[in-house]
Amino acid sequence: MNKFKTILFDADGTLFDFDKAETFALQNALAELNLPYNEIILQVYKQINASLWLLLEQGKTTVAHLRNKRFEILFEQFNLIGDPSQTCDMFFKYLMQAVFFLEGAQDILEYLHKTYDLYLVTNGVTVVQESRFALSGISKYFTAMYTSEELGISKPDKKYFDIVFERAGLTDPKSVLIVGDSLTSDITGGNNAGIATCWYNPENKTNTTDSICDWQVSRLSELKNIL
Ligand SMILES: [Mg+2]
Repeated sequence: MNKFKTILFDADGTLFDFDKAETFALQNALAELNLPYNEIILQVYKQINASLWLLLEQGKTTVAHLRNKRFEILFEQFNLIGDPSQTCDMFFKYLMQAVFFLEGAQDILEYLHKTYDLYLVTNGVTVVQESRFALSGISKYFTAMYTSEELGISKPDKKYFDIVFERAGLTDPKSVLIVGDSLTSDITGGNNAGIATCWYNPENKTNTTDSICDWQVSRLSELKNIL
């Protein structure tokens, strides 16, 4: 029997297919505003968004700032005429409805929740994540969800995990495991917090960072070998 009592799960890219959700939301938002949409616009948007979320992880921007900023940059790059802030609102409207699971997500939660306390730890926008979480039907497996926006600090900052520990009433780091797809936020965050880490790495990438993964799985069902 392992020593763990609590599992912290990242949401996007770990349980939810965020690629699909983002595509769905952008496509529908731009269509509703009569703005052009194509594969190039999608890919450029994803790059802009990903680079802004990296800055968030580094504490160099805030959710409040990046929400409109990514659309301002997109509008500039494609000379789009419109309102970036309104586009972001529309994007959120669709993103809030976008629930696509990654393979094995529901099964592993059904299996784990019987033995462990599960928490969702996400660098996301609170209203968006709460809506998706509620619609997904998986909230019944979790004790609580903590978004970076609500906590005012993002993974991988140790302070994010300090607040999670405090709110969840966790006292023993050795009894906690984080499972996530991001080396820079989840695994580095786990290392900062002094808890065990499991990298969900479906594409079998190489870890070129300094972050330390105690375990690695390429399918969520492999968590059953650890837990
Ligand atoms: Mg993730």
